[in-house]
Amino acid sequence: SSDNTPMRIKPLDPQLVNRIAAGEIIQRPFNALKELIENCLDAGSTTVNIQIKEGGLKLIHISDNGCGIDKEDLKIVCERFTTSKLKEFEDLKAINTFGFRGEALASISHVSRLTIITKTEKSPCAFKASYSDGKLTKDGIKPCAAASRGTQIIVEDLFYNSSIRRNALKGGSDEFAKIYEVVSRYAIHNFHVSFYLKRIGESSMDLKTPGCPNRNLENEQILQDTIGIVYGADLKKELERVSIDFDEKFKFEMMAYLTNSRYTQLKQMTFILFINERLVDCQPIKKSLQNLFQLYLPKATNPFIYMNLKIDPKNLDVNIHPTKHEVRFLYQDEIISRIEKSFEEKLLNSSASRSYYVKN
Ligand code: ADP
Ligand code: MG
Repeated sequence: SSDNTPMRIKPLDPQLVNRIAAGEIIQRPFNALKELIENCLDAGSTTVNIQIKEGGLKLIHISDNGCGIDKEDLKIVCERFTTSKLKEFEDLKAINTFGFRGEALASISHVSRLTIITKTEKSPCAFKASYSDGKLTKDGIKPCAAASRGTQIIVEDLFYNSSIRRNALKGGSDEFAKIYEVVSRYAIHNFHVSFYLKRIGESSMDLKTPGCPNRNLENEQILQDTIGIVYGADLKKELERVSIDFDEKFKFEMMAYLTNSRYTQLKQMTFILFINERLVDCQPIKKSLQNLFQLYLPKATNPFIYMNLKIDPKNLDVNIHPTKHEVRFLYQDEIISRIEKSFEEKLLNSSASRSYYVKN
């Protein structure tokens, strides 16, 4: 100021601090939806039904048939660091559910209007509660009718209290494209679960996957069918499978589907990677496969790859910041070189690529 006296330092309003922190975790509608899908899967759901308005900015409505939330827990469920999934720090090392930080619902409630309707098996009715800024609204928890067990999460007016974030987003169709990508990838990986995705106001469903009633994970036909539903029958026809059985030394196993060189319709490589059930990015794996495929596929031909990688949780850096989708793990170079080798064997043995390889 003009008289050279400094401005006094004051603490920020805690509500504002929470809102800023939440905006770092939830940057776009698909970030919120990814967390909500993981919660449905953690709750043991076999059906996940998603309805979207304006690319999720106006509405994300997700219903599941999982275990539901106890009425007693509804009071605190949206506070930061409340979770039913982690008790001791030691648990972090062996965590097998997706969530462990108890931050997702809290964050969403700071940047939107959030409503939960939920029913557990033993409760005679459902309960409904709305939240804002991590807290139950003054309406409290109300009993309501609901036919069956499960949870509905309703997220309205995302970023209504943050016009900068809201204005930075291009609009509904870009956001919906990202939502479709995330939902279809979870649907492929969790092929035993039936996913529905629909934009409200459109006459047809955007995505509908079969699931399998007995949760039979051995039934990879349904995995292939689900890939076919998302990427088309032409791609499905050219799928090949690679796998690595559990490796005692580096404590990992891998299963993947890739397209062979007969499939030439992709403009760029599609790489869907799940590590320990989480949709993640891992540039070093992607780069190594990209280089490998350049050797074996005709120019301008790009593969589709879905990879399910399981790594001993002790070797995985799980405590990464929620905005970082890139993961790191121990023995990375060794594991990648084994994966590369298994893919190379496949490419050499597959008749389609051999004929190409010999031709050149
Ligand atoms: P986290 O998943 O890390 O525990 P969240 O904020 O995502 O944190 O969720 C908080 C808690 O709310 C979960 O631990 C779980 O008990 C409950 N919960 C959230 N979504 C669901 C759901 N769809 N079905 C059952 N319980 C849920
Ligand atoms: Mg969660």
